[in-house]
Amino acid sequence: MAAATHKQTVLAHLQSVLKKKFPAPPPPAADRPVLEEVVYAILREGATPDQADAAFAKLKDKEVFFDWNEVRVSSVSEVADAVHGLPEAGAKGERLIKFLQEVFEELYGFDLGDIAKKGVKQAAKQLARYKTGVTDFGVAWAVQRALGGHAIPLDHPTVRVLHRLGVIDPETDELEAVRGTLEHFIPKASGPEFTDRMAVFAATVCTEDHPHCESCPMRPDCPYGQEVLAKAKAKEAKPKKPR
Ligand code: SF4
Repeated sequence: MAAATHKQTVLAHLQSVLKKKFPAPPPPAADRPVLEEVVYAILREGATPDQADAAFAKLKDKEVFFDWNEVRVSSVSEVADAVHGLPEAGAKGERLIKFLQEVFEELYGFDLGDIAKKGVKQAAKQLARYKTGVTDFGVAWAVQRALGGHAIPLDHPTVRVLHRLGVIDPETDELEAVRGTLEHFIPKASGPEFTDRMAVFAATVCTEDHPHCESCPMRPDCPYGQEVLAKAKAKEAKPKKPR
């Protein structure tokens, strides 16, 4: 119970910091069809909203690809080239093509609209069947943005930050249990905003290799950040060997 209360306190502080220090993301696209929302999720996983928006706009540019079928039959390097501003653009290009191929083989088209009529749980299950392109993040994204449900998509940068803050332990916690905890503490209406602001926080402050702990507003709550700073302090205090 004490641990749950601590997590709740840290998450409440995190939400307040994200809201105060990071610009409000543009409102989620309201009318994006399910297929396009899954495509967007593939681009967005591990990237910032700006990076994903730029890549998505390129895929939708008729002068680059006429339609989703043209993306499907393009080479990985052509698609990777179009989304080159994303981290791991090559892997994204490959996943995107495989996802479109799976959908095409099943439906001979690209309309996943029927899935949305089945109710959130059933729709999520159906999306998860497109295994080559749709990850756990993709399913949660579609639930949050296209299916009207409550889910917090968890990509690598989000898990990294939450782990450093001591909210989750990826070694022992199942992804589903982690999401359950987050969904409990973060209201449905705040989910998209939390997801987008976290991506920017992870990309600009709590970066993979060199987190900016010294200036991070989450430092008082963060065991990892305090360890990083203590180590840096100890290194500075170490007397230099005489030459
Ligand atoms: S204090 Fe450091 S490790 Fe902790 S959240 Fe901030 S940047 Fe990340």
